[in-house]
Amino acid sequence: MAQKYDYDLFVIGAGSGGVRASRVAAQLGARVAVAEERYLGGTCVNVGCIPKKLLVYASEFGDAFADAAGFGWTVGPRRFDWATLIANKDAEIARLNGVYERLLTNAGVTIVNGRATLIDAHTVAIGAERVTAKYILIAVGGWPAAPRIPGAELAIDSNDAFHLHALPSRAVIVGGGYIGVEFAGVFAGLGARVTLVHRGPLFLRGFDDDLRAALAEEMRKRGVELRFATQLERIEKHRDGVRAALSDGAAIDADFVMLATGRIANTRGLGLETTGVTLDGAGAIVVDRYSRTSVENIFAVGDVTNRRNLTPVAIAEGRAAAETMFGRRALAVDYDNVPSAVFSHPPLATVGLTEAEARARFGAIDIYKSSFRPLKHTLSGRDERTFMKLVVEPKSDRVLGCHMIGADAGEIIQGLAVAIQCGATKERFDATIGIHPTAAEEFVTMREKAAS
Ligand code: NDP
Repeated sequence: MAQKYDYDLFVIGAGSGGVRASRVAAQLGARVAVAEERYLGGTCVNVGCIPKKLLVYASEFGDAFADAAGFGWTVGPRRFDWATLIANKDAEIARLNGVYERLLTNAGVTIVNGRATLIDAHTVAIGAERVTAKYILIAVGGWPAAPRIPGAELAIDSNDAFHLHALPSRAVIVGGGYIGVEFAGVFAGLGARVTLVHRGPLFLRGFDDDLRAALAEEMRKRGVELRFATQLERIEKHRDGVRAALSDGAAIDADFVMLATGRIANTRGLGLETTGVTLDGAGAIVVDRYSRTSVENIFAVGDVTNRRNLTPVAIAEGRAAAETMFGRRALAVDYDNVPSAVFSHPPLATVGLTEAEARARFGAIDIYKSSFRPLKHTLSGRDERTFMKLVVEPKSDRVLGCHMIGADAGEIIQGLAVAIQCGATKERFDATIGIHPTAAEEFVTMREKAAS
């Protein structure tokens, strides 16, 4: 019998969410095609998590060389070559693009190179070609958003930051989210003078206030200039670079201004209006808990839905959507206790509720805090503190949140996220034996409640 549609599933966008959904659907027996107009692997692989972390590693060597002296090392002359770093990073990304291609083709997924747009609820166009599918999954991600200010076109965004021809000697970064904070650390760690401008009183809104304050202190110690409660008003060309005019009257000359003021869903020009898929006020696709849009057979996952814009969340949504479409039962993603890390200098990571969120939800809560100089820095002499915090609900004794700033915070919090997901109590934390000497053991040895 002839098939009614060319494919069971047509996925638009081969990023983290789209690739996972394609592979799971194919494993479940669906005939799948995925269209990609730019690069396999999407933001995370090409201009996000992966190259960012490689740049973060590069920016940590300066500290390592300086710290080595206290351990008896004499480190010889040092020179950093940006072009080598970028070339090696690009080679690794090209390798990953190939890995993604093989993952898809080995799963039996057809890759369509080009921009796909919707013609109706079951038809997409790629150039002159028309393809039909029973289900369509939109996984087109997001794109950097720039504030409307004079001279905004002179600025760079995070996509550009991965392909700069030279390391800046002076950079202004605007925005106090993950991207602004991480790139401030990267450029400063590699030797640039960095000013971070943020409109709010403190950056990283939504993170635990103690972590936000601790990071501000650590970044200032490292020479990053933090200008809070300040807006960028204007960018002008100036000599070889630019001049950033700020709301506090300051004018900063720099090689570039980088705008890290958030990202918006990539929904423009997709043809969504022809299908009746509902968008929210910010242009993101509205979906239910199964990632189904307002059109029965069209699903959407990842940043284009603007839920939790993190790669592992997009992957979980992609898998759940594929299971819902082709598996035995509908699957929804659990958004409680999503851990995340900011790869700042030092890094910070968090799982569960912040102190403020827990107080708002439960009223009285117990807080345990620990701030200490890490063992390594007793000899390195570096003035850096590690800070950890547990948020506990006294009635149930459940640990609602774990927060940390310090070396390896992401690695440590990932492990604790399992305990939080299992509903661990403070008593279970206390009954856990530490690994000595580590920083992480502090999470199982905090006994004194902090004064509220
Ligand atoms: P975020 O939404 O995290 O932060 C945007 C920042 O820009 C906020 O500080 C915001 O301020 C500020 N801002 C927004 N609009 C304006 C404006 N018009 N003028 C001045 N400031 C403005 O976005 P990012 O770009 O940092 O990151 C995008 C997404 O990527 C994040 O949501 C995150 O989920 C993801 N990501 C995750 C990473 C990780 O897991 N390590 C790393 C990088 C990105 P305010 O707080 O006042 O709104």
